[in-house]
Amino acid sequence: MASEIPALPQSYAPGNDSVFSDRSGFYSMDTNVPGLSKLILNKLNMKDYGEYRAAVEGKAQGITFRNYKELFQKMEETFKFCTSCNKLPEHLTEGQTLKRCVKCLNVYYCTKDCQKKDWPQHKKVCKMLRLVAIDRLVEWLMFTGDLPFSTEKWSKPVAEVKNWEDWLPMQGDQTSCLDAILSGANMTSLWKNVSRPRPDDSDLRQSLWRIQSEFLSRVLTVGMGIRHFSLDPYAKPLTIHVAGASHNETMGARVTDYDELNKMFPGHQGIEILMVGPEVVDGPIMRPPLRAFGPKHHVYISAHKGLYHQFWEDVVEKEEGAKPDLVIGFHPGFHANQGLIEGWLPTLLLLRDYNIPCLFTMYSEMELKCSLQILLELEIQIRDSGPNPFTSQKPEQVQSCPNKIPVYCNSHYICFQGILPEEDVEEPGPNN
Ligand SMILES: [Zn+2]
Ligand SMILES: [Zn+2]
Repeated sequence: MASEIPALPQSYAPGNDSVFSDRSGFYSMDTNVPGLSKLILNKLNMKDYGEYRAAVEGKAQGITFRNYKELFQKMEETFKFCTSCNKLPEHLTEGQTLKRCVKCLNVYYCTKDCQKKDWPQHKKVCKMLRLVAIDRLVEWLMFTGDLPFSTEKWSKPVAEVKNWEDWLPMQGDQTSCLDAILSGANMTSLWKNVSRPRPDDSDLRQSLWRIQSEFLSRVLTVGMGIRHFSLDPYAKPLTIHVAGASHNETMGARVTDYDELNKMFPGHQGIEILMVGPEVVDGPIMRPPLRAFGPKHHVYISAHKGLYHQFWEDVVEKEEGAKPDLVIGFHPGFHANQGLIEGWLPTLLLLRDYNIPCLFTMYSEMELKCSLQILLELEIQIRDSGPNPFTSQKPEQVQSCPNKIPVYCNSHYICFQGILPEEDVEEPGPNN
């Protein structure tokens, strides 16, 4: 989800391909970025985007549901619009109801005709959207504490773990761990309260893994950044900032969320992860950064609510927090629109001018290309870019356009540091 979103103008109206429903309170803000539904999906019941912001800013009190049935119902309502003609429930004629595609149980249609008309597009993603529909319910187990499940010690040195195919075999047989979640009270309660039958166990096992992979993808991507810039966590403690951290990384965050780094670099000198962003959600990780180096062999997570460049002025420059050895940006989304690039500009220039090693992730190759172009225009030196070997395995529906090919969190990355050397900036001369 894009972060550092500037406040919306009063006149804000959703674009043509966004979906807005007064009743369910859902905006799809960015056509290319899945996002807001997550929040609704997990916790909230909101009238409009203003209320959403109030909630993420901690101003809205007591947004609760009477029961789980209601929570899951509200959540499902955010998906109720005709995929073909975009009609919302309140625009239906009397007696008409939105009917769900029986194959994926994900998208809705107002009439048979609409469904027929849409099928040539929808059939390309229907199978995938079935998984998406399962995942968005199973994801609730992240908030009940069933997920993430615990992982094993690394049996291979970090240099030999280059992707999921290297990482997974170190986990051994996860059957008993997954079966415990499958037979757990929360899983049972989930399927009792949603308006669809429980998928079979093999579907659920795969879904649990996909959701776990999204969680781990963030940690392993940080690890990849450490390796990429040859930072040595055995030589000195490392300070890592997550710039533009949003509710995705901070809602329900636990102080143990980055412990996989302990398995990746056993016996390290101490790693501090500091989340900074205007949408950081209050919770146990909301604590000041370390002033002195933290405990050896531990990962210490803290959070700061605010824009990154402001944080730099208020905290780093006053030496109330260490300068980062690495800055991570999960889906900054600054390619998406002018407002976002303006929000990110001071941060990008600051990171460039202080020569800070950075790794940013994207949802797709298209985003990667647009982001690269923006960074190059800022004369930032790109070190590397490409598909992320630790991409999330969980498909994300492009909310307002379900028939678009689903995307994956952290699917691509860019490593960059410092300013382009001058010879690269100049036009090639006759001798080149
Ligand atoms: Zn329709
Ligand atoms: Zn379908």
